Amino acid sequence: MRDLLTAAAGHAASYMESLNDRPVRAELDPSAIGDAFDWSLPEHPIDAGLVLDELVEQAEPGIAALGSPRYFGFVIGGALPAALAADWMTSTWDQNAGLAAITPSLAAIEELTGAWLLDLLGLPRTASFAFVTGCQMAHVTALAAARQRVLADEGWDVGRDGLIGAPAIRVLVGEERHVTVDRALRLLGLGSSALRPVAVDERGAMRPAALAEELLRHRGPTIVCAQAGNVNTGAVDPLDAICRLSHRAGAWVHVDGAFGMWAAASPSHRELLRGCADADSWATDAHKWLNVPYDCGLAFVADREAHMRAMSVTASYLEQGGPVRDPLDWTPEFSRRARAVPVYAALRSLGRSGVAELVDRLCACAERFAARLAEHEGIEVAAQGLNQVLVHADDDEATDAMVAEVQRDGTAWMSATTWGGRRCMRISVSNWQTTYVDVDRSVEAIARALRCSVGSTL
Ligand SMILES: *Cc1c(COP(=O)(O)O)cnc(C)c1O
Repeated sequence: MRDLLTAAAGHAASYMESLNDRPVRAELDPSAIGDAFDWSLPEHPIDAGLVLDELVEQAEPGIAALGSPRYFGFVIGGALPAALAADWMTSTWDQNAGLAAITPSLAAIEELTGAWLLDLLGLPRTASFAFVTGCQMAHVTALAAARQRVLADEGWDVGRDGLIGAPAIRVLVGEERHVTVDRALRLLGLGSSALRPVAVDERGAMRPAALAEELLRHRGPTIVCAQAGNVNTGAVDPLDAICRLSHRAGAWVHVDGAFGMWAAASPSHRELLRGCADADSWATDAHKWLNVPYDCGLAFVADREAHMRAMSVTASYLEQGGPVRDPLDWTPEFSRRARAVPVYAALRSLGRSGVAELVDRLCACAERFAARLAEHEGIEVAAQGLNQVLVHADDDEATDAMVAEVQRDGTAWMSATTWGGRRCMRISVSNWQTTYVDVDRSVEAIARALRCSVGSTL
């Protein structure tokens, strides 16, 4: 066992050390990499050391360096050293972290980490929390609590009677909400016809006046889904106005703050989230801006009882109901990974000041991207907010060619998107290692790509 784990540690260290220098893109595409593997199911055992060495060798050409300081695709984040090491221990201990009595240390770590998160993100200390697989399931968890509460207020117990025959719930969502909100609602029995899109401004933030109008149109159970951090522009909805208007109308406010909610951990960016703590539930990720390994999402609910009612289960064979809460009563998962452990390690290694520095530095890097790219002829900045930047070339074709060439070049990796009817290069800064040096190298790569793609289309 020791030799095998030492070998795994060696492979891992080599990979981490390669991150700053290797091409960011994967060498082979999905169809080509399949050929690297032996598709026949082995008939007989193979030595574990050999399995490991072959796995690393065969997978290598299809591994994109998502943990690179110059990976700017989507909102990915990397793995802080303490979080990665703690994640190894989480796998090693292999605890089924659903019941406190069975896994005492992990339940305790989850309790204290949940309390740290409420503090760090400026949420009510009395809110409940859940460590789930990602922001997608954090939405499911929090919106299940919302559904529970808004129907209970109408005298309907959805846990007992389900949705058939229940008062109709209306869900007000910004036109620029993330797709995972729709899917969470769909899983909860609230299909697209229950959704009312609310108009947004040019940065994608919900317009309070449009929300106020929509709130007037209907009586009855209402959930409002606001957003802190648009995936394209980084825009944050005006949360204080949204909470005020919604609560006046008796609606529940849920905030999708997958990455944007981390601005609350920085004294210099916190103001953007004014009013956030007044919401009723929140969903965010630890695997994005906090840089813990996948998968780790976080749900918080102000109404603990609604959360508990929506999620708890009991069975005679479980050991439940001790003095420490049982994690499985708060999550849709039953058997579950102790995913609070890497979060604990990340927060302990960074401290409050380290998280604030991480937020501030990545925002500053995004600002530097925008400022430096704006100086380039043929590049225009379409939007910049928090850790997000959108730029485009003179036309859509040139923009797409520029993005493709940057990806091919391998110095950095950015994706393309459509914003305001235009193709844009989308730059998302979310890796703990990224500095101005990476920004400047990437700006040069973008300039090279633009020259190259303009050259090829002439
Ligand atoms: C990434 C993201 C999600 C989904 O989060 P997962 O962790 O991928 O499930 C939801 N909303 C926003 C704004 C996001 O950026």
